Amino acid sequence: MLEIRNLHARIADSGIEIIRGLNLTVKAGEVAAIMGPNGSGKSTLSYIIAGREDYEVTEGDILYNGESILEMDPAERAAKGVFLAFQYPMEIPGVATMEFLKVAMNSQRKARGEPELKIPEFLKRVKEESAALGIDFAMLKRPLNVGFSGGEKKRAEILQMKLLEPKLCVLDETDSGLDIDALKIVADGVNALRSPDRAVVVITHYQRLLDLIVPDTVHVLYKGQVIKSGEKELALELEKNGYAGLIGEAA
Ligand code: ADP
Ligand code: MG
Ligand code: MG
Repeated sequence: MLEIRNLHARIADSGIEIIRGLNLTVKAGEVAAIMGPNGSGKSTLSYIIAGREDYEVTEGDILYNGESILEMDPAERAAKGVFLAFQYPMEIPGVATMEFLKVAMNSQRKARGEPELKIPEFLKRVKEESAALGIDFAMLKRPLNVGFSGGEKKRAEILQMKLLEPKLCVLDETDSGLDIDALKIVADGVNALRSPDRAVVVITHYQRLLDLIVPDTVHVLYKGQVIKSGEKELALELEKNGYAGLIGEAA
């Protein structure tokens, strides 16, 4: 589903290369975990997959279902089913969360050639999914993410993901700032999305999330490259020994 080949990318402003020859394959039906020390390029990689404009790909390619997405803008990628849950979700003053969800869902449906959701059906789905995520319905009347706590922002990201039903989900440190109960709720939400025609990329530092969302594969990112890939045991090994050994090997 996702194939990243020898990707090199830099920050458009400064020209600093952050992604330096990265290879990664994620199959449909798979949950892949990406781990790695701070500053290794995990968030940058997720922005580049989503198509954020502040980055320039200088070499390599990103294939999604066999098709290069590099020339597509973020909206086109989203319409094709690529979804990024941000590490730091953006605040959007002036747009009620509900309104945002409605517009996002309908533009997704339009891209798929489906009719607009009728309001009662929309409300029913939002109520169901927000209840499952422990989100207070009243919160959805507030502007998106404005004044939300860290945990509320992360739940709102998962709510969007569940409503939009993307095919490739990238979650950037969705666990940071969550207490154990919220973590469990978020993990249940992600697990409910697991399906043979969907892939999930979970970026995290912590085994505690991977106890709840058990990955099929684990990849370690360091200095803009995947330096090691393995199965779920690799995450346990990292939890025990840290990154130092791996980094030594890579050097
Ligand atoms: P991670 O998510 O793995 O912690 P990031 O992708 O956030 O890493 O950052 C990778 C590297 O790129 C870091 O060294 C960071 O300081 C640098 N970086 C990210 N964004 C910018 C920017 N806009 N300008 C300069 N350096 C940046
Ligand atoms: Mg970081
Ligand atoms: Mg990050």
